[in-house]
Amino acid sequence: MRTELEHMNRLSMIGQMAASVTHEVRNPMAVVRGYLQLLQKKTPADYDHYYEVVLQELDRATGIIDDFLSLARTQPDLSETRSLSLVVKELMPLLQADANLRGQTLRLETDGTTEAMPMHSGEIKQLVLNLSRNAMEAMDDQGELVVRVEESEDSFRLRVTDNGPGIPEEKIEQVRQPFFTTKERGTGLGLPLCAGIAERHGGKLTIESEPGKGTEVTVEFART
Ligand code: ADP
Ligand code: MG
Repeated sequence: MRTELEHMNRLSMIGQMAASVTHEVRNPMAVVRGYLQLLQKKTPADYDHYYEVVLQELDRATGIIDDFLSLARTQPDLSETRSLSLVVKELMPLLQADANLRGQTLRLETDGTTEAMPMHSGEIKQLVLNLSRNAMEAMDDQGELVVRVEESEDSFRLRVTDNGPGIPEEKIEQVRQPFFTTKERGTGLGLPLCAGIAERHGGKLTIESEPGKGTEVTVEFART
């Protein structure tokens, strides 16, 4: 049962986050405004670059708002029953395009299971995208990202593995905290969001990392 104190803590965390999200969203908005103003004085030859930046910044603002809303969500809506591996497979073209742009390789490995589990497929996709993007952002152009879906007698497992620089031991707990980021343009909301999605699906997120070798994030969903 959720105690009054937990409830208050949660509200205060959401309040702090709202303040931070406001700040984070203002930045891309300011960039969009500035670029649109500059665009007035430009010739069509320059448009491509300006459109690109404006779209990128709008996506960034939308991403922050989406992450924040998902993070603030408490009610699980697991009314769909779908196969984890098939849902992950649907994301591959999107991830592949991203990997291609970075010169990285991407591999999906499944053990052939297509057994369904209760889920909110939109959230599961967000989970896979966030973990994969973290992996890609951590790696250079020699990077190899492997997404695995496995099932066992009592669980379904999603594993996202990279051969990036890894996370130092003393940071492993920290990276799960809201707003902890080592990226210039990071929000630090990705992992807390993923942990929340895992939890709402009766799952658990664990991070294993070896500096210099890579990182593996596992989400294990208990069978119901
Ligand atoms: P963001 O991606 O916006 O920084 P996240 O919550 O997704 O926020 O991640 C928090 C931090 O955890 C990242 O800034 C990075 O330092 C670290 N991190 C997450 N995933 C990885 C990974 N696969 N390899 C190395 N570091 C990672
Ligand atoms: Mg992230």
